[in-house]
Amino acid sequence: MFGNKSTAFVTVNTHNCIACNKCVEVCGNSVLAIKGPSFHRHVHLIRKDACKGCLKCVQCCENGVFGIKTIYTCL
Ligand code: SF4
Ligand code: SF4
Repeated sequence: MFGNKSTAFVTVNTHNCIACNKCVEVCGNSVLAIKGPSFHRHVHLIRKDACKGCLKCVQCCENGVFGIKTIYTCL
């Protein structure tokens, strides 16, 4: 799968992913994994419900794959 996905806290646009594995290593909640055939490997959300919003993936990715999800609440 190629494109935009998200957890409750971060958005993931895999278009610029180079499958460096850094985000997989920093995520302490096993949310992320690199999968796919050799010509098309990129990050996948394998346990999106386990995301705790620590934003380590956002901070470590140099390719802008992750974004911070804006959460709107009704007052
Ligand atoms: S750190 Fe960024 S470029 Fe590297 S595997 Fe994760 S999403 Fe892809
Ligand atoms: S925000 Fe934290 S828990 Fe969620 S995917 Fe990124 S590193 Fe993992």
